[in-house]
Amino acid sequence: MIVITCPHCESPDCIKFGKTDSGTPRCRCHACKKTFAINPKSRALTPDKERIIVAALQERTSQRGIARLLKVSRLTIRNVRKKTPRA
Ligand SMILES: [Zn+2]
Repeated sequence: MIVITCPHCESPDCIKFGKTDSGTPRCRCHACKKTFAINPKSRALTPDKERIIVAALQERTSQRGIARLLKVSRLTIRNVRKKTPRA
């Protein structure tokens, strides 16, 4: 059996506490009452998605359209656009 320890106080007294939005299981520590994901996924923008955003912007696709297709926020697209030099 796998013993789950709390990342905040390292207590092994943890129980399952549902799932995160992305489906990874959450736990709650009995000692400090904090919750945490067991194997948290990175939510950072992948270089692949960034390349797609740059290509779509060069094709003059709307920022809202790109956001809907790639399920990223419009702010993410604006940030990619800002750091990409214009041709
Ligand atoms: Zn704890």
